[in-house]
Amino acid sequence: MAQNNIRVVVRVRPFNSRERDRNAKCVVSMSGAQTVLTPAPPENSRGSSKNARAVLDGTKTFAFDKSYWSFNRADAHFAGQDDLFADLGRPLLDNAFQGYNNCIFAYGQTGSGKSYSMMGYGEEEGVIPRICRDMFARIEGIGSGDANMSCTVEVSYLEIYNERVRDLLNPTTKGNLKVREHPATGPYVEDLAKLVVRSFVEIEHLMDEGNKARTVAATNMNETSSRSHAVFTLTLTQKRHDAETNLSTEKVAKISLVDLAGSERANSTGATGARLKEGAEINRSLSTLGRVIAALADMSSATKAKSKGMQVPYRDSVLTWLLKDSLGGNSLTAMIAAISPADINFDETLSTLRYADSAKRIKNHAVVNEDPNA
Ligand code: ADP
Ligand code: MG
Repeated sequence: MAQNNIRVVVRVRPFNSRERDRNAKCVVSMSGAQTVLTPAPPENSRGSSKNARAVLDGTKTFAFDKSYWSFNRADAHFAGQDDLFADLGRPLLDNAFQGYNNCIFAYGQTGSGKSYSMMGYGEEEGVIPRICRDMFARIEGIGSGDANMSCTVEVSYLEIYNERVRDLLNPTTKGNLKVREHPATGPYVEDLAKLVVRSFVEIEHLMDEGNKARTVAATNMNETSSRSHAVFTLTLTQKRHDAETNLSTEKVAKISLVDLAGSERANSTGATGARLKEGAEINRSLSTLGRVIAALADMSSATKAKSKGMQVPYRDSVLTWLLKDSLGGNSLTAMIAAISPADINFDETLSTLRYADSAKRIKNHAVVNEDPNA
């Protein structure tokens, strides 16, 4: 992970009931790291050799760090929640315990499986609860082995809706918290609850409360949570006391786990008026994220001298500003591109795969957040 600090993976879910009802065809196939998207032949022209040719020409092949086949449990190459955690969650925790910032974000159209992969549903725990569980297991291991080490975990959970920040762990605060930037520690949200948690049970409780607050807000606005970005953040602080020198050192790592708003374009849902503005605002964060990623990709391929003059437009959206220290520079990043298997979502799936493809080119240079004088 050290020399290539962004991992981009794709995950395809099973058909949903709507797709099954409409007799959808599966247009996605995966082998190893490859994801292949093949347009289904038009219903009325199957068998014509001219069209078969056109179909071949429309096939798109992408290579990612990994392609997760979650379409059918019965298949030999089926990948479940545990596989995603093993590949993304575990290395991320290894890095966090070494003092690196980390970020996982899930990108894709509404209903593609972002929340399933991040938070999960019921018994099917996603990568967030699994990371929390494993983090406390590791802390217990450290605590029993080394009396000079102590670890603290803090959690915050926020939602960005229309470029406004709302605290999901303190829903009574007004829904427009300010983002500020500390010269040393980077961007933060003023007045955001950052709660110390001592066990998985405690964090699980907060996660549930936050998820409920997210749903309640969405219902009140007569919408689904698909229009907001949810950012779950863990801050791990490890303190080591050296008895001989009587000095303490502190390592801080931030883990940002982001369930992005649906990536479908405002125009494809026939949005008008207020809806359209909202769509544009969602696209502001997502399109800025795309531009930030592209700028980082350019910088990582440019010479050192040339990359110095390059600007990354972090501050152009709330999301990218908050993720500034988790994207590029001081951080390790993973992106999960969630896709539908169905022909009826071909265009959105293609645009998701293209977005993911552009993310693949960033190579971050991570630095340990270690303060010897803490
Ligand atoms: P999103 O958050 O992208 O809008 P969800 O994660 O809520 O989408 O997924 C939509 C539906 O599809 C949910 O009912 C979810 O349980 C189901 N689903 C998504 N991904 C998978 C998967 N990998 N395996 C099984 N069911 C899935
Ligand atoms: Mg969701």
